[in-house]
Amino acid sequence: MPKLNENYQSLKESYLFSEIASRVNAYTTANPDKKVIRLGIGDVTLPLPNKVISALHEGVDAMASSETFKGYGPERGYDFLRNTISDYYKENGVCVDPDEIFISDGAKSDTGNITELFAVDNTILVPDPVYPVYVDTNMMFGKSITYMAGTVENDFLPMPDKNVHADIIYLCSPNNPTGAVYNKVQLKEWVDYALENDAVILFDSAYEAFISDPELPRSIFAIEGSKKCAVEFCSLSKTAGFTGTRCGYTVVPKDLAFTASNGKEMSLNAMWNRRQSTKFNGTSYIVQKGAAAVFTKEGMEECRKNLAYYQENAKIIADCLAKKGIRFFGGIHSPYIWFECPEVEGSRDSWKFFDYLLNNAQVVGTPGAGFGENGKNFFRLTSFGNKENTIEAMERFDKLF
Ligand SMILES: *Cc1c(COP(=O)(O)O)cnc(C)c1O
Repeated sequence: MPKLNENYQSLKESYLFSEIASRVNAYTTANPDKKVIRLGIGDVTLPLPNKVISALHEGVDAMASSETFKGYGPERGYDFLRNTISDYYKENGVCVDPDEIFISDGAKSDTGNITELFAVDNTILVPDPVYPVYVDTNMMFGKSITYMAGTVENDFLPMPDKNVHADIIYLCSPNNPTGAVYNKVQLKEWVDYALENDAVILFDSAYEAFISDPELPRSIFAIEGSKKCAVEFCSLSKTAGFTGTRCGYTVVPKDLAFTASNGKEMSLNAMWNRRQSTKFNGTSYIVQKGAAAVFTKEGMEECRKNLAYYQENAKIIADCLAKKGIRFFGGIHSPYIWFECPEVEGSRDSWKFFDYLLNNAQVVGTPGAGFGENGKNFFRLTSFGNKENTIEAMERFDKLF
């Protein structure tokens, strides 16, 4: 009999989205005439930019003749894409060498797999509430996690506690689910803390393209000293609509090295390269062709137009909440709007509010409880729907309270 990885027993049932689906199904079965509007989804809805579609077609055509056919590609990605991403960083004032960039099938895989580079006995800081992948992937290895509370008091932007030591720090900015964004001063404090503690920051910037204020950092590498303490995960999922097409990239600086117990210097860039080339055979050539088109002038313009569409939806939601006097976070540099649940029958419980909103306004959102203990009285709405539905949902919301 195989001995199993019993750490899987300690994982919480990932029931959030299945529970939402089953409650919505029950409602629509009982009320077939009611139009339900879904503002709970964390998935984009607009199609890929035309420029990307043409590049994908070119990629497919290349596979049709032996002169241009591509077999196994470089595990860390084709040079044409890594050079393009390096240039994209440069345009945003950040210096990242192509050798520091690893192309992947998305940021979920990379943020999940990176834990393999670290031993079991580290002090790992994870914000609460946050994207559940960081927690679950560490639990699978039996690693224990220290939570940092995101609260109204700190604008859902936990800051380092200088009296507590950490080895590994997960940060997500703009944040999923709260939409909160760290400014440069706050990120500098995290970088200084990491350098002092000889810690590593694992920085998820999947939503960087939603940042419209040039003063806000879109990359941890905009902060001095970060090349010695940070890894950055990015994705084309939300930037360019690649949730189904799959492409992301991770930056592991060459300066990032730590001393092992035998005194040897170990480079995280070399370790990640070893890990990826052993367990991953690269993102498909076709997808990488499409990904490179995102960073062309026309590709970027089309992406910006799509992002502006979502940002307008976010504003519709935010304006309604502001009008109702409901305090909210996010919605400006993020597709997510996060607010404290209005009281329903004397309770702010996010699942109770979910049922109330579904039953009385036929609007579906995401209960904050699904993102951590500190989310239990909060609610997430997303701007990834279409504009007409977003307007209608918020008109219904407006009439509720
Ligand atoms: C959507 C999302 C990602 C992107 O994941 P992909 O695997 O690239 O689709 C990464 N991090 C966060 C926090 C997200 O919400």
